[in-house]
Amino acid sequence: MKRFIVCRFSRWVLSSLLQHSVSIARISVILLALEPTAIPAVAQSLAQEQKSTPVIIRAARLIDGRGGEPMAPAMVRVDGDKITAIASSLPVPHGARLINLGDSTLLPGFIDLHTHLTGRSDVHWEDALVKTTPPEDALWGAHWALVTLLAGFTTVRDMGPDWPYTDVALRNAIDAGAVPGPRMLVAGAYVSSTGGAGDALQFSPYVQVPLVHNLADGPVEIVKAVRTNFKNGADFIKILATGAVLSKGIMPGAQQYSDEEMRAAVVEAQRWGRDVAAHAHGTEGIKAAIRAGVHTIDHGSGLDDEAIALLKTHPNTYYVPTLALMAANLDENRPTVIPPAEMERMRQLRAMAEAAFRRALAAGLPIGLATDAPVIPHGLNAREFRTRVALGEKPMASLVSATRINSEIIHWQDRVGTVEAGKLADLVAVPGNPLNNIKVTEQVGFVMKGGVIYRSELSTGAPTRTE
Ligand SMILES: [Zn+2]
Repeated sequence: MKRFIVCRFSRWVLSSLLQHSVSIARISVILLALEPTAIPAVAQSLAQEQKSTPVIIRAARLIDGRGGEPMAPAMVRVDGDKITAIASSLPVPHGARLINLGDSTLLPGFIDLHTHLTGRSDVHWEDALVKTTPPEDALWGAHWALVTLLAGFTTVRDMGPDWPYTDVALRNAIDAGAVPGPRMLVAGAYVSSTGGAGDALQFSPYVQVPLVHNLADGPVEIVKAVRTNFKNGADFIKILATGAVLSKGIMPGAQQYSDEEMRAAVVEAQRWGRDVAAHAHGTEGIKAAIRAGVHTIDHGSGLDDEAIALLKTHPNTYYVPTLALMAANLDENRPTVIPPAEMERMRQLRAMAEAAFRRALAAGLPIGLATDAPVIPHGLNAREFRTRVALGEKPMASLVSATRINSEIIHWQDRVGTVEAGKLADLVAVPGNPLNNIKVTEQVGFVMKGGVIYRSELSTGAPTRTE
């Protein structure tokens, strides 16, 4: 009976959840209850229906991602999947859909440069290798993709799953309209040295863990790993340049790939026209990765003055810190699967990572914004804003980081990252003014991706269709 109702009304349910006010939990439950075959067709026809009507969005103010003064009030016109006009006042044509967001701020969809959408907060990654399956991670990935999208993050750079290439499958399913989620750039399988941060060290040497990681040692194997990843659908390469907090063995500060090995990864990726992102905590590893020509230094905990000077002479390399996860894990007493020794590593790195961020701010470096979710739970991505503002960043700078700067880092500045005519209609709105209170970024109440509305809780009335 219940199943019948779900099938019968699935189209209405999806339609109403896309257009009206519903909680994340309810949306997830409803989506999970839908017949699998119904979702793509419904999502696509809804998208079609939404896209055929011009949409005019009105809000008290617009922060367009470029860093200038907010426009107040503001109206944005969307035709199909694109933004077509922006002004304080726009004509509302016959047949257009008018969405009045009241006293809220419209912004470009946020971008997170470091997520693991197929990963879970309640399973440590090494345990995932013995207790979960790739299909399980893929299904959870679809769930977390929706949670992340509804939190206002319309694009993510995903830094590698526990099970190789589940992120490729998730990206493809989202792009095909089969499941709702952010636009994704994916790493496929991260490239780590044997015994390094990406190697699972809990197993007996007699236990084979097939296909777990793209382990590679020496330039020849690294070139092979890079090619394998691109062959299997990765958009970029993630290498583990130094030790990690959440792994055993080598310390986070220690360099794990030699200069020559890192350079091999960069040269091969460049042949494909792609980037290398380096997970790097330790100071020497950071500097070696910058010199090797990687595109991003992720975490960057040990960034010192010399590393900052190097970044200034390597303008194609960006510092991408992940700061909110430390407060979320160390200050909040939430239940955790992170072992005590790894929590202790995080505690030790925290002061260093926060000092690095302050140093980068003072030096005026362009800084990317990222979270490492699920090390901070998926959906809490916007906590990164308040963490950075508390460390001295201006609210506007943190917003520009998550939008324009991040779009430039992923080379998608022609598509996303700012609210400008001709760009994709990836828009979010928050109540009030984030320049006065950055925490409102954690209360995203309106999400549009490519002209399709996924969340709408800020409207001052039902969306009106003008006649
Ligand atoms: Zn990560």
